[in-house]
Amino acid sequence: NKRKLIAGNWKMNGSLAFNEALVTGIHEGLARAIPQCDVAVCPPAPYLQQVRSLLEQGGAVELGAQDLSMHDSGAYTGEVSAAMLRDFAVRYVIVGHSERRSYHGETDTHVAIKVQKALAAGLTPIVCVGETLAQREAGLTEVAVKQQLAAVIHLNGHCISEIVVAYEPVWAIGTGRTASPEQAQEVHAVLRAQLRAASERADRIRILYGGSMNAANAAALLAQPDIDGGLIGGASLKVPDFLSIIAAAG
Ligand code: 13P
Repeated sequence: NKRKLIAGNWKMNGSLAFNEALVTGIHEGLARAIPQCDVAVCPPAPYLQQVRSLLEQGGAVELGAQDLSMHDSGAYTGEVSAAMLRDFAVRYVIVGHSERRSYHGETDTHVAIKVQKALAAGLTPIVCVGETLAQREAGLTEVAVKQQLAAVIHLNGHCISEIVVAYEPVWAIGTGRTASPEQAQEVHAVLRAQLRAASERADRIRILYGGSMNAANAAALLAQPDIDGGLIGGASLKVPDFLSIIAAAG
């Protein structure tokens, strides 16, 4: 039985002081109640070194980044490569978050290439897929998420069992409106079937749910058979909330 993964996506939040208080609080909480799941935090890139050194001082929390470049090196102002993340002992990297897709024009092809770069550098990509409200209302949820994942599978073939998938319905992100456990499970089962068709090791792939997951709704979501963890935005910035979600994954 695979361990669940609870990952905090801090997005563009934090400061040196805030991060230190947050990581210290998480460590204190996890020292009182040893987590039965894997835990990661994904700070903004400038704070990777700070958070890395904070994490080295305590518990078993792992480090993740929020994005990476599709290029290896060179004249790409503002970008951060897979090798640079590797240099800072980053373990996970979020790829294709809906905020990257919608505000930065990332296509399924870009996402697939970024996944390839992450895997080649020994990072574990957390590949985000999810439908918009319009797609859900038009009955296109399954089509939308399968198309997003298909591009990643197509380019990464036999390596696909090394990824983590995150199902994040766009309408649930930062809205306080969570997918019901049944709605989420339905999509997770679709994604699981798609992964099984691509890899005989698909059952080891963790499929996380993300979108307004919080202390109150985490347990019911995490009890679903194909929900293997959570990608947490807002609630990952509050120590008690993040700890409660971790406890719910145990
Ligand atoms: P919220 O938990 O704030 O809805 O964000 C979810 C998310 O986008 C995580 O990547």
